[in-house]
Amino acid sequence: MYKSIESKEKNYPYSLNAAHLYGDLMNTYGDNGNVLMLKYVGEKLGAHMTFNIVSLEDDFKADKFDLAFFGGGQDYEQVIVSEDLPKKADGIKKYIENDGVMLAICGGFQLLGQYYVDASGKKIPGISAMNHYTLNQKDNRFIGDIEIHNDEFDETYYGFENHQGRTFLSDKEKPLGKVVFGQGNNSEDGTEGAHYKNVFCSYFHGPILSRNANLAYRLIKTALEKKYGNEIEIPAFEDVLANEMQGQVVNDIKRKAEKS
Ligand code: GLN
Repeated sequence: MYKSIESKEKNYPYSLNAAHLYGDLMNTYGDNGNVLMLKYVGEKLGAHMTFNIVSLEDDFKADKFDLAFFGGGQDYEQVIVSEDLPKKADGIKKYIENDGVMLAICGGFQLLGQYYVDASGKKIPGISAMNHYTLNQKDNRFIGDIEIHNDEFDETYYGFENHQGRTFLSDKEKPLGKVVFGQGNNSEDGTEGAHYKNVFCSYFHGPILSRNANLAYRLIKTALEKKYGNEIEIPAFEDVLANEMQGQVVNDIKRKAEKS
């Protein structure tokens, strides 16, 4: 395990210690940018941020971390990671069941579930921390812009998906959002990503948080309240992230949706 990045200033009222799961292996399409966005938003909300790469052979201790990020990977890296994951499975499950905050993208999302069938038809085991499963598809990938809506939070998220896996959620998992435009988990049931306890999963790359500051804010706020209690005062989204609003992105996706 090694520290990959941390806030320069020391005098923040709060601090968050984040695990970047397999950060040296799982980073498709700029997913590591999510770490930069979590650091940026964390600092805006008053937290000193530390990110530790937790990779092959490292332990994952559930009570050591306030936040976890698990990025996407191609089939090659996913096999390597799936062989190491059983050693961390108990720690990750404990972290999740204890309401730990986590963001998992694409390959990371798939490996938290029961299994992932890769492009060649090979079944790669997940750790069943959540009960979704992922099937393959023949000579096709879901690639393109996507828009989803989360009814519980009344928030819209925008992104770019690129995956061959077709994921199906269990009864215990809510989707991260309903597909407004794009393919989503499997292009059949209108779901995208997953939301279970404080785990947020998605197929969005790009990275997801730089286009969706509202989701980054939600992750950091949830992690801070879990650590310091619900009564702490956290600045309102509009007050600290007004420049990161989604106007530009919204128009871009809308134009594409209207053309299709
Ligand atoms: N290999 C997986 C798939 O194609 C995940 C890809 C990714 O993380 N972008 O479905």
